[in-house]
Amino acid sequence: MSKAKIAVNGYGTIGKRVADAVQAQDDMEIIGVSKTRPNYEAAVAAQLGYDIYTLADRVESFEKAGIPAAGTLEDMVEKADLVVDCTPGGVGEGNKAVYEKAGVKAIWQGGEDHELTGFSFNAVSNYEGALGRDFVRVVSCNTTGLCRVICPIDREFGVKKVRATLVRRATDPNDAKKGPINAIIPDPIKLPSHHGPDVKSVLPNIDISTMAMKVPTTLMHLHTINMELEKDCSAEDVKEVLGAQSRVRFVGQGIGSTAEIIEVARDLKRPRNDMWENCVWNESITIYEGELYFIQAIHQESDVVPENVDAIRAMMELESDGAKSIEKTNKAIGL
Ligand code: NAD
Repeated sequence: MSKAKIAVNGYGTIGKRVADAVQAQDDMEIIGVSKTRPNYEAAVAAQLGYDIYTLADRVESFEKAGIPAAGTLEDMVEKADLVVDCTPGGVGEGNKAVYEKAGVKAIWQGGEDHELTGFSFNAVSNYEGALGRDFVRVVSCNTTGLCRVICPIDREFGVKKVRATLVRRATDPNDAKKGPINAIIPDPIKLPSHHGPDVKSVLPNIDISTMAMKVPTTLMHLHTINMELEKDCSAEDVKEVLGAQSRVRFVGQGIGSTAEIIEVARDLKRPRNDMWENCVWNESITIYEGELYFIQAIHQESDVVPENVDAIRAMMELESDGAKSIEKTNKAIGL
């Protein structure tokens, strides 16, 4: 069987990781990545052997910088079966016409609105709903992290209500232009935050309200989660359900911070220190007065990466069973 031809439009924090994760699979391959500027990331992409494409009016600047482009964005899209749009939030929707014109399938990221595709994806929650679709949105890092735990707990015990507080990293580690930073910023101040409705774009039956703030860190987000459940259960029951999720990792053994989680990723020799799984402190899983509480950390740069691979597999109908796709993706990237 020939491999599905995948292009990545926007080779930044998410795009570069999606490109490598796709390239690690045996049923799909990267035919090109696009960059707007011939900067250090473009130079590294070329060094890694990716064909680089750019906007029509930028081809010359790549030539001048000694990183010749293989063609324009339109040329790249023409060669692909599916484009993963990883351009900055709000930019991606402007590319829809380009993809429609070329008749290719496309995935957008969480920075775009649900309405752009009408289908928001999380592998464990709704893989089957993406089968054969032309346009899909993979939800944001925080929404992915919430769906991965809410969905299995809802299937087992029934979720009556979720309340979550999201402590968000200020920006990504390479984003020097947004620092230095010294503040705690309630974001938004007017409540609830948009994260609850975003979870409902994947899991419409879940009652959830969220608050969020930004803090001066670049490593990970942290969520404190509280759920009212339909069925009585113990902390051990919840541990069993979350422990069976391949994209949930229990952290303990003296890991008391996001800094130590990233150290684990480094020690595991994960590419770019990526921690693709939700990191749940199993000791935090508590039932108090009949309600569930726990704490998890989310690696914003990488948790959506395996989800993009699964979304491709569903849309290209390379695998009809979500659990099998998740297993295949995990194995190929080393999760
Ligand atoms: P980024 O800024 O790191 O990368 C975006 C890339 O797109 C860059 O390579 C940039 O050169 C390129 N680009 C800029 N303008 C472009 C244009 N007009 N056309 C084509 N390419 C253009 O952004 P990111 O953090 O990778 O975010 C990409 C998407 O993923 C956004 O929707 C974001 O909300 C979402 N997302 C980000 C994170 C995160 O924490 N970084 C996590 C999950 C989802």
